[in-house]
Amino acid sequence: MKQILMIEDDSAIVYGLSELFREEGFLTVTAKTLEEARRAEPGSVSLILLDLGLPDGEGWEFLTELLARKDAAVMPPVIILTAREDEGDIIKGLDMGADDYVTKPFRTGVLMSRIRAVLRRRERPLQAKETLICGNILLDKHRTTVTAAGENVILTAGEFRLLAYLMENKNRTLTRNLLLAHLWDSEGDYVNDNTLTVTIKRLREKLGENSRQMLKTVRGIGYQMEDLND
Ligand code: CA
Repeated sequence: MKQILMIEDDSAIVYGLSELFREEGFLTVTAKTLEEARRAEPGSVSLILLDLGLPDGEGWEFLTELLARKDAAVMPPVIILTAREDEGDIIKGLDMGADDYVTKPFRTGVLMSRIRAVLRRRERPLQAKETLICGNILLDKHRTTVTAAGENVILTAGEFRLLAYLMENKNRTLTRNLLLAHLWDSEGDYVNDNTLTVTIKRLREKLGENSRQMLKTVRGIGYQMEDLND
């Protein structure tokens, strides 16, 4: 189930929106302070709803920290939800990298459609391409075939899905959590951390000497498919 991290100190809004999100099929993780938000593992949710005025500081601080992370590229989209309606704040938020900016008071229907739009935008580029290329590796999603340096590579379904996801997001570091969540989503059964390590190892073996160097381990974070031709 998709999760929304709501960083908000107004209990009435927290209560109301949690109910709404539940009806819409989302699970809500709440943080009432910046300190709680920092502990909430933002990488494991689908979207972040960020208030600006919080008891222990400004939402800007959280956004700055999020975007400065090494794995910022795979962090979930952020929608700022605030009473501040100054254009200066709106521009600042969007320029910094927030995906949308909604002012209070808001209509729940409008907020919900903004959330859906942001999630759609994130997912669309991944579905578009049928053939993925990374260096000398070619993956055909439609025919589910892979070649490395022109040679056919026979993969299991799990290996194929992992490689496709890495190639769709090539040159971006994907955290172990993100990879696990993705593999879990498409298969329906649980893939553990050890399975991920083993699957990566097998993929490298099958891809061969010249191709495996593109599949990099990012120490302490996850993996990245690096296209040296890009
Ligand atoms: Ca507030």
